[in-house]
Amino acid sequence: MKILLVFAHPESRSLNAALRDVAITELEAQGHEVRVTDLYAQGWKSAVDRTDFPVLASDTRLIPATASKKSFEADALTEDVKAEIAKLIWADALILQFPLWWFAMPAILKGWVDRVFAYGFAYGVGEHSDKRWGDRYGDGTLVGKRAMLIVTAGGWKEHYAPRGVNGEIDDLLFPINHGILYYPGYDVLPPFVIYSVDRFGEADFEPAAQRLRERMRTLATTQPIPYRRQNGGDYLIPSMNLRPDLGDQNTTGFKLHLSGSKS
Ligand code: FAD
Repeated sequence: MKILLVFAHPESRSLNAALRDVAITELEAQGHEVRVTDLYAQGWKSAVDRTDFPVLASDTRLIPATASKKSFEADALTEDVKAEIAKLIWADALILQFPLWWFAMPAILKGWVDRVFAYGFAYGVGEHSDKRWGDRYGDGTLVGKRAMLIVTAGGWKEHYAPRGVNGEIDDLLFPINHGILYYPGYDVLPPFVIYSVDRFGEADFEPAAQRLRERMRTLATTQPIPYRRQNGGDYLIPSMNLRPDLGDQNTTGFKLHLSGSKS
């Protein structure tokens, strides 16, 4: 497989960097081809602004989605964004790796998504009518490809358990896994999360590295998270609400969008 790993940590001697190297070494040992986007090392520009749309006249009001659509269609996005889009098209699998910062991805990685997941490429794809609400959530440009997260967290695993004070990790990562990766078509694998990393000693590293190697060995075969397909008949159009006959009536929120939540 061809794999793109997008890495978001500012320090080359960090735990994240060491884990990234473990992942790459294992993937290459399995015969995969790996490319890395190292956002801090590349000095990635994360904020969306007018300079992202060189074809926009200086006196034209900036409407980001419209400018993104026109620029993508005209092949007129900036070169850094075009290079990332080309890598996403090249890759069979995408890995996003980051430390959990304020229960989310670091801003530089969010800015990579904001700029690279352009209108017409990652959203605004397919027929939008009273019969179909576009190609997304199971359809889309990146369908047939796999994606997964590698995340480190300072908090304890128990703090992210179903009754943990931080909220459940699958809920916290839902906006990324479902809203960013599943949306444009990726099959999203369960995340690889390491907890309590700020107390990590050298003795903790090898067991974590072993678990990560195993996940890299099974990248092509791990079962994706069973999100419901938008266009698979489970949702009403145009409300995009789950059909009333589906889902456990006591289940609300993110879990409703797992096909296993059928009663
Ligand atoms: P590092 O600081 O590089 O290393 C962590 C430990 O691993 C060190 O003790 C280091 O000695 C050890 N280590 C062991 N082996 C190695 C090796 N081979 N190479 C390098 N180091 C090794 N946590 C949460 O749970 N939820 C949050 O919402 C959250 N928000 C945060 C917000 C901010 C702004 C910041 C700065 C931190 C936040 N944290 C949060 C904590 C954060 O998730 C962790 O600090 C981060 O995941 C640690 O990863 P790192 O790569 O930076 O680790």
